Amino acid sequence: MIKKIGVLTSGGDSPGMNAAIRAVTRTALMSGIEVVGIRDGYRGLVEGLYIPFKRSSVSETISSGGTILGSARLPEFKEEAVLMKGVEKLKENNVDAVVVIGGDGSYRGALALTKHGINCIGLPGTIDNDIEGTDFTIGFDTALNTIVECVDKLRDTSNSHHRCSVVEVMGNHCGDLAIYSGISCGAEVVITPETGYDEEAVLEKLKYLEKLGKSHAIVIVSEKICDVQNLADKISKATGFAGRATILGHIQRGGSPTPTDRVLASRMGAKAVELLIEGKGGECVGIKNNEIVSMPIEECVSLPRSSRKEFYRLFDRLV
Ligand code: ADP
Repeated sequence: MIKKIGVLTSGGDSPGMNAAIRAVTRTALMSGIEVVGIRDGYRGLVEGLYIPFKRSSVSETISSGGTILGSARLPEFKEEAVLMKGVEKLKENNVDAVVVIGGDGSYRGALALTKHGINCIGLPGTIDNDIEGTDFTIGFDTALNTIVECVDKLRDTSNSHHRCSVVEVMGNHCGDLAIYSGISCGAEVVITPETGYDEEAVLEKLKYLEKLGKSHAIVIVSEKICDVQNLADKISKATGFAGRATILGHIQRGGSPTPTDRVLASRMGAKAVELLIEGKGGECVGIKNNEIVSMPIEECVSLPRSSRKEFYRLFDRLV
């Protein structure tokens, strides 16, 4: 029977992480389990930055973005010696199990700890929606809302000036933020890892839309695919639109989590504690068809990306 658990956030932060920390803390305390908040991800785990959490430690946090625990990257956590130092620190502090909120890198750390006798459960905390084993990650909905709000504003001004807004969004090799926002904002073009980048085809499509009488256009591009400033310049030269590039950047990671993310994080946090009480470790929590589910981390990180073909087909039919 576990007596004390730790909770940490790792990798890139995402809105809703605090709601997850809160749910883990409160459901554990309700079950008579002590909780420590571990600061700064695996770095704090190794260094022993453990804060005893009470019910009130997570008060007033559900609506705040970011993570009250801080997040960090510790690449050395992959090394056996550093990992063992972490295991020893947890044992010294009588921490029996840990809930890790982060992306798939963080999941691998959680799996390594589990293999060394500390049961860990992973929760998908990332805006990118790039984790298999769940339909949605914690923070995706908030980031999507932020993007849509920004692109709607760009649309208003680009409409008045015969512009083409080229907007770079995040995604970490996953096109979900781009295709969901593309559909939501009525974009003309989306460029993602799934579509690939065919510059000529993009310019031709814009020229065609211009001929149809469009007064503005929106192109949404996933990060790390092409230089959006360069694309905007080419649009200015090759079409009648004035190309303008906008990189939304870290604004997408911030803000108060949407109710959807708060509920998702709360459900997932409670599930993580249930799994630990059942004696499980090395699992990650997800949502599938509105049901909270779990699967082995090993399976989750080796799953191929599920297809979004239906979304791209739909997008093409709406332009
Ligand atoms: P994310 O969790 O958002 O994918 P990273 O990939 O940067 O972010 O991973 C976050 C942290 O998880 C890393 O800094 C490292 O401490 C830990 N981590 C990543 N991969 C592994 C691994 N293979 N084994 C152990 N720990 C890992």
